[in-house]
Order: sequence, then C-alpha cells, then structure tokens
Amino acid sequence: MLHNTLTNRIEPLQPLHEGEVRIYTCGPTVYAFAHIGNFRTFVFQDVLRRFLHSQGYRVLQVMNVTDVDDRIIQSAAHAGVGIREYTEKYIRAFLEDTGALNIEAPEELVRATDHIEDMVALIEKLQQKGMTYNSDGSIYFRIARFPEYGKLSKIDVHGMKAGARVDVDQYEKDDARDFALWKAPKPGEHFWETRIGPGRPGWHVECSAMAMKYLGETLDIHTGGVDLTFPHHENEIAQSEGATGHPFVRHWVHAEHLIIDGQKMSKSLGNFYTLRDLFARGQKPSTIRYALLSVPYRRQLNFTEDALKAAESSIERLRNFVVRLKTAQFPPGSVPEMVKRVEQAEKNFGAGLADDVNTAIATAAVFELVRDVNTAMDAGTFLQQDALRVLAAMEKFDAILAVLADDDAEKLRKLGFGAAEPKMTSAQVEALVEERIGAKRRRDFKRSDEIRQLLADSGILVEDTKDGSVRWKYR
Ligand SMILES: [Zn+2]
Repeated sequence: MLHNTLTNRIEPLQPLHEGEVRIYTCGPTVYAFAHIGNFRTFVFQDVLRRFLHSQGYRVLQVMNVTDVDDRIIQSAAHAGVGIREYTEKYIRAFLEDTGALNIEAPEELVRATDHIEDMVALIEKLQQKGMTYNSDGSIYFRIARFPEYGKLSKIDVHGMKAGARVDVDQYEKDDARDFALWKAPKPGEHFWETRIGPGRPGWHVECSAMAMKYLGETLDIHTGGVDLTFPHHENEIAQSEGATGHPFVRHWVHAEHLIIDGQKMSKSLGNFYTLRDLFARGQKPSTIRYALLSVPYRRQLNFTEDALKAAESSIERLRNFVVRLKTAQFPPGSVPEMVKRVEQAEKNFGAGLADDVNTAIATAAVFELVRDVNTAMDAGTFLQQDALRVLAAMEKFDAILAVLADDDAEKLRKLGFGAAEPKMTSAQVEALVEERIGAKRRRDFKRSDEIRQLLADSGILVEDTKDGSVRWKYR
C-alpha cells in the first residue's frame, strides 16, 4: 500500500508489468553539492526499492541527472567553462555521497544533456498536436490545451490570464502559467542546434522525455521531494499525457520536507548542510542514513543534534547485538517460543513497510526483538540454534536498513574525513579477533595476549564482555 498524491489516497501498488516495478526518480541538479534535505528523499527511495526487491519484485529505476538548467548555464558561463565540465565534479560528488549512505545505484542514471534528441522529439509531438506556441524563439506549452492541468497539485487554473507565460525553470505555487519547453539561446550561454531551432530544453521536458524513453508511456511510480509537485511534476504530466494521450504515472509518491531544528533549511539562516558538512562535524554515514530513514517519508523530518545522537546509539545497539549473537557461547538447542518471536518480528517489520513504507513501525519491530533476545540472553535462557535464526532475521532487516556494516571510518577516510589510514583493515582485525577467541578457548593465553598487544599497537580497542563476546573499534 502506497500513498498516491494524485488521488490523495493510500492505494495498493499494482505494477503494470508482471513482477517488475518501474520507477522514475527526479535526481539531483548538479550545480552544487546536494543538501541533506535532498538525501532524505533519496534515502526514502532507496528503502522503497530495497523493500520491493525483498518482496520478490524486479525493480527498474531510472534517475535523471539534471546537468542543464538555468542555474547551471549561468554558473558555467560565469566560471568560463562548458556545462559538461562544470557539472562533472558535482556528479562525482553525488555518486560518492549516495555511496556513503548505502543508497543503491538505480538501474539507469541518465544525463539530460545526453537526451536532447529525445526532448526535441517530444516537443515535436506536442507541436503536431497543437499544444505549443512559439514566442521570441522559445517554445511554450499552452496549458489551456490540457484541461486536466492541476490534477496533481490541485492548483486552481481558473482566472489564469490567457497567454501568461513563464521562462524560468522554477516558479512559485499558485502561479499556473504556460511554461517553456524550449528556450531561445542567450548570448554567451550554451545552446544546441536542433530541428526545432537553436536553444536549450526547459527543465520539465527533460524528465518526461527520459522517463518515457526508459520506462514506457505509463510508469508504475514517480517519486521526488514534495516541493517538486508543482510546477515540475504537474508540467511533466501535461507534457507526457499531452503527447501520448495515456496516463503518465500510476502512483505519484512524494517525500515530505526535512527541517533543521524546527526551521526551514536555508543558507541565510546558516543551517544549510550538505552531507560533507555533516561528515566534517564528525557525523557518520550510517548515523545520517538511519536518522533520515527512521521517520516515515510522509512526515516532516526534524533534523536535530538529538535525532543524530539517537540514531547513532540505535545503530551501536544493533551492531553490538549482532556481535553478541556471533561470538557469545550459548547452550545448544532451540526454544520454540523464540523461533515464534523471531517470525513475529519479521512479520511486523514487513507489515510496517508494506503499509505506506512505515519505517517507524518496521524499526520498532527490530528493536523489540533485540530487547527480547537480550533479555533471554541475560537470563541464560537463549540457545545456540536460535542465535543463527535471529542472525538471519537481522540480515533480512539490514537488506533494507543497510546500517549494520561497521564501515563508517573507512568510508569517511575515503572521502577525506577522519583519521589517517589505519594500520589494519577491518577484515584483518576480524581475523585476529577470531584467532584470539580460539586461543583463549584452547587456554593458549600467550598467543591471546600477543594478539591483544598487536591490536592495541594498531590502534584497535578490544573489549571482552561477560558472556564471552568480543567488541572492537578503531581508537
Ligand atoms: Zn524531474
């Protein structure tokens, strides 16, 4: 079940193609580093696609990279470089950022500037249907020719002045106007020579052309941040349905805003953060991912220091729990009630996500299981065979949450944050920790002390717990 902005109802997702869900995602505009609000949406989309995978669907997700728009053209011209060169660094940064947050790569990541021909073809189709007009070398979409205009954002187009039009890619809500499909070239700015004349595409036509090229005329899901509903997605519908006469999207799914300490994020308030700003302040990728995904996507997310602290300790709890399951010694056997308890947790986790991607319910199911299993372990009633069953459940959960791998330090180092290269990789440390556990079991204390010293010399802190499990971290 998934909320659909078009109908404002929670509806069952019914993919058009058997066993496959086709998703289009409005990607980054690469004129600057993406900010933490953008990543809230991208992390949500990642949870959605991972969940669909876990339910046995194939996922075909297309994400665009807007590497041509008003801001890019102006910034590139200002910097005296081509738009391809100007955007390259931000595309690379975006891929590094999404990688750090364990956001899976979409099946197709496509650049607008590689699809000018597809946009020209779409505009030609609209011209043939009489839905456009030319003015001063630009081509506009005449929204009066698309009576359903406004159906997504519920904007009222009555009283709109005929012929009122807008050239900029982004404009205010409550301002329905004919919008530019193709813009006349401006002196000193990048343009393409095409069948419909010289110029460059408007922002909106880019997504319609690329979505339909890769996913067909009707997509299962189109996602984006809620601020894209108008005008961007409204215009996408007008262009696509105007050209094909078919429904463009079955399910419109929008992620709510992220606010910072209760305030709108803005450069002027000094609370505008890129992912790198947060890394520089010592935040870990896993902390940020968890903080972003733990609030259900249709709720506004208040991003605070406390929320980050809570996220960090939640992950610590999960990771310690898994270490305990893997390394502690339990009596042999299995308790039927524990098997049932794990199954119940898996069921609740899946049911939460199936209910409009309710991550709060899903994560609560995980932590309730962790609490119950820890209680049983402390009471000495937890048995070895059930440890494997619980570990399997934790793996299933993490196929979607993706926060268990203890690789934050390595990721941060790669991006140029944090301490210098450690003397040992985590795999080497794991191997030594394992060897030391074996040595202790054999009562070979000489070897176990040697390993402890070796790890200490390499800046690894090893902590033995009462139940025989071992935790370690980079100092
Ligand atoms: Zn878009």
